Amino acid sequence: MTKKNPNTKYVFVVGGVMSSVGKGVAAASIGKILQSKGYRVANIKCDMYVNIDAGTIRPAEHGEVFVGEDGVEADQDLGNYERFTDQICTRDNYITTGQVYLEVIRRERNLEFNGEDVEVVPDIPNEIIRRIKLCQQKNKAEIVIVEFGGTVGEYQVLLFLEAARMMKMKDPENVFSIMVSYLPTPSLLGEPKSKPTQYAIRTLNSAGLNPDFIMCRSDRPVTDSIKNTISNVCSLPKERIISAPDVNSIYDVPVNFEAEKLGATFLKAFGLRSRKNELKDWQELSQKIKGLKKEVKIAIVGKYFNFKSCRDTYISVIESINHAAWFNNRAPKILWLDSEEFEKDPKKLNQLSDVDGIVVPGGWGSRGVEGIILAIKFAREHKKPFLGLCLGMQLACVEFARDVLNKKEAHTVEVNPKTPDPIIGINKRQAENVKHNRYGGTLRLGAYPCELKLGAKTQIAYDTKEISERHRHRYEFNNDYREMMEKAGLKIVGINPEADLVEIVELEKHPFFVGVQFHPEFKSRPLVPHPLFREFMKVSIGK
Ligand code: GLN
Repeated sequence: MTKKNPNTKYVFVVGGVMSSVGKGVAAASIGKILQSKGYRVANIKCDMYVNIDAGTIRPAEHGEVFVGEDGVEADQDLGNYERFTDQICTRDNYITTGQVYLEVIRRERNLEFNGEDVEVVPDIPNEIIRRIKLCQQKNKAEIVIVEFGGTVGEYQVLLFLEAARMMKMKDPENVFSIMVSYLPTPSLLGEPKSKPTQYAIRTLNSAGLNPDFIMCRSDRPVTDSIKNTISNVCSLPKERIISAPDVNSIYDVPVNFEAEKLGATFLKAFGLRSRKNELKDWQELSQKIKGLKKEVKIAIVGKYFNFKSCRDTYISVIESINHAAWFNNRAPKILWLDSEEFEKDPKKLNQLSDVDGIVVPGGWGSRGVEGIILAIKFAREHKKPFLGLCLGMQLACVEFARDVLNKKEAHTVEVNPKTPDPIIGINKRQAENVKHNRYGGTLRLGAYPCELKLGAKTQIAYDTKEISERHRHRYEFNNDYREMMEKAGLKIVGINPEADLVEIVELEKHPFFVGVQFHPEFKSRPLVPHPLFREFMKVSIGK
């Protein structure tokens, strides 16, 4: 049984009208702002799908799979939470319908319901509540912000809303809900309309909840008269209707909240007092970003560019580039280069001539791989700063083997299982997983230590001897090729000490050519860029 802390506040963040309007950033910003007032917070994301985690979901459609220290494969919003609150998220911060049902069914099979029948209500909401409270306890949080994926009115959100209602019924003083709603501006009218939000409020009412705040997402600030209308519909004072117009940078959101004294409004509603006021760093960053004139042009070469938004698919990579550029006083300009285009017409590689640096992020499968290899060759030969992340590192090794070691058919066995030179291979355990279709949760996941080679560029960047970084991959560098690679100039400069796995490669006689088997992008912060991105950027801008 979880222990009850009578003072803990729970804030449910639900979506109105439509999804993808920045609920995650809003939830992260609320966390940040309350943290800046001196409170210990925890953010939780609830995803409505039956998947156990985000690990088997196509990132091109559903966004990046964010990996936690403990290896949880989660929704990208956990990345926002970490970047905003600088607190590590684990599986405790992530709940899916699948996890909830799996646990309830497991308990039923273990006779833990003492002969009672197991009901969708209340047993499913009870399990949701148990998980929320567990996260509160583990984080010793005073305020827990629980974001529900999707939108009010969707069938699959109902049991989560029921959990919120049950918590509110038991503890009305300490449970709150915020609806992040969308106010469309029809081009003919030129002003945001509130009717869809009014319906969404009614729908939330029918689930037994009235919002305590409404956040109005819109392309422009909402007027007082709109605030009046909405405040009437949900019987809330006007200051609880918050205007949240589009912003330049997501890091402006908490700063704007503070400018509107939202932190104080939240605390007043919660019956709490501000303990401190610490948002200065972020206010300065937000100012700095607006003032940056000089650009740095970074190409991201990959293949997941033809779905809805590459921003969601590569959000942590993009944010890491942003953080590093701002730190180096540059405005980042990212070019999305589809590697399949290089395959169709290698002349297009010329596009890489006028970029300052090239990033090849993670990826899966064989489509577009040859084009990525061409781009890596270009970076190596033209001495363009290059940072390869996971698949980017693997393909940098393949390219080097093909072109420098003259092993023309070298490959990763993920793409060509029959290659005579499996530069990137698969170990026995992983081969068994693939053979038996055991895909969910079986990758090499989460934080692993890595020993750095003294004097290497990456070691100097990290300024330490041993690091820990997060992983998410199945294939590994094949140690049979280590000596050959090193002799020819591709140095192995990071090793996992327990399993002797290659973690970092670095090319000699190149301004910056680094491939890492892990995902440094998960640990970059707006004010503290990741050391590898920071150094890559420094070299890219010619410092
Ligand atoms: N597909 C590669 C692997 O499984 C790389 C994964 C990644 O880039 N995250 O090892």
